[in-house]
Amino acid sequence: MKQSLCSVTSNVEAIPGIHLMWIDAPDIAVTAQPGQFITVRCGGFTLRRPFSVHQSSPLTGGNSGEGEIALLFKVTGKGTLWLSQQQKGDRIDILGPLGKGFSIEQGSKNLLLVAGGIGIAPLVLLAQHALSQYQLTLIHGASTAAQLYPFSSTGKKRSKLTPSLKGVQFVPVTEDGSMGKKGMATDILSDFLDWADQVYACGPLDMYKAMAKMSLRAKRNNLKLTKCQIALEVRMGCGFGACYGCTINTKKGLKQVCRDGPVFELDDIIWQEVTI
Ligand SMILES: Cc1cc2nc3c(=O)[nH]c(=O)nc-3n(C[C@H](O)[C@H](O)[C@H](O)COP(=O)(O)OP(=O)(O)OC[C@H]3O[C@@H](n4cnc5c(N)ncnc54)[C@H](O)[C@@H]3O)c2cc1C
Repeated sequence: MKQSLCSVTSNVEAIPGIHLMWIDAPDIAVTAQPGQFITVRCGGFTLRRPFSVHQSSPLTGGNSGEGEIALLFKVTGKGTLWLSQQQKGDRIDILGPLGKGFSIEQGSKNLLLVAGGIGIAPLVLLAQHALSQYQLTLIHGASTAAQLYPFSSTGKKRSKLTPSLKGVQFVPVTEDGSMGKKGMATDILSDFLDWADQVYACGPLDMYKAMAKMSLRAKRNNLKLTKCQIALEVRMGCGFGACYGCTINTKKGLKQVCRDGPVFELDDIIWQEVTI
C-alpha cells in the first residue's frame, strides 16, 4: 500500500451519472489484483472514499515507470461529486492497493461474473486478468439499457471507455426490458450455474441476499453448490484496518471488510446482520 499524489489523465461520464476516470498510478497499475480497492481523498473530506480498481494498464509486471488505473464511480454524494469534477492534469491523493481481492481455484475453467449496477466496477478487472486462461460469462443487470456497461467483446479496444474483453460472453439484463432479458441479474443466474465452476459477484445488498437464498435452497435440496465470492461495499473509515469501523460478524468470526475483504465467500456472511 502506498499513498501518492497522482495525475488524472481523463475523466468522462461514461454512463449517465457514472464516471470513468483514468489516473496515472504506475505502482498500483502493476500490483493491483481484481477486487482490491484504493481510497481517494475527495476535496476537504477527512474520510477517504473507497473505490475498486476497475481497469489497469498494463495489467501486470513491467517496471517501465508508466501505468494507469481506472475507477468507475457513481456520483452518490459530495465526495463523488467532487471526484466527478476533477479534470485532466488535476492531482488527486490516492492510497492503495488495499484489501484482499478475488481468487480463482485450481481446476476452475468456467467463471461466471455477476454484476448489479455499479457492481460492474471490480469485475471488469477480473475479466481482464482471467480472459486469457478461462471461459468467462459476465451478467450485467441494470435498470435500463443506457445504464449498461459499454461492453466490447470484439478484439478491438474502441477507446479507453471500452476495454477489449474479447471472448467474454456478455449477458445484459434490464429491469425495464430495454436490452436483454427483462428482470434482475439474479433471475437468470440459475441458467448458468451448471456451467460455472465459480461465481464472482458485486452488486447491491438485495442481490447478495437473493443469491444467499439460492445457495441455501441448493444446499437443502442437495443440488450442485457453486462457490461464490462477493465484494462487500460497506461504509469504511480508514480503509486499512486501523479503525475497525467496517467490522462485520461472519460465520468465521469478526472480520474487517477493508482488510479481510472486501471479497468474501457468499456463504460466510450473516446477511441479516449486514447494513450498507
Ligand atoms: C471496497 C469498496 C469499493 C467500492 N468501489 C466503488 C466503485 O468502484 N464505484 C463506486 O461508484 N462506488 C464504490 N464504492 C462505494 C463508494 O465508496 C461510495 O459511493 C462513496 O464513498 C460515496 O461517497 P460520497 O461522499 O459521494 O457519498 P456520501 O455523502 O458519503 O454518501 C452518499 C450516499 O452514498 C451511500 N454510500 C456511501 N458509502 C457507501 C458505500 N461504501 N457503499 C454503498 N453506498 C455508500 C450513502 O449511504 C449515501 O446514501 C465502494 C465502496 C467500498 C467499501
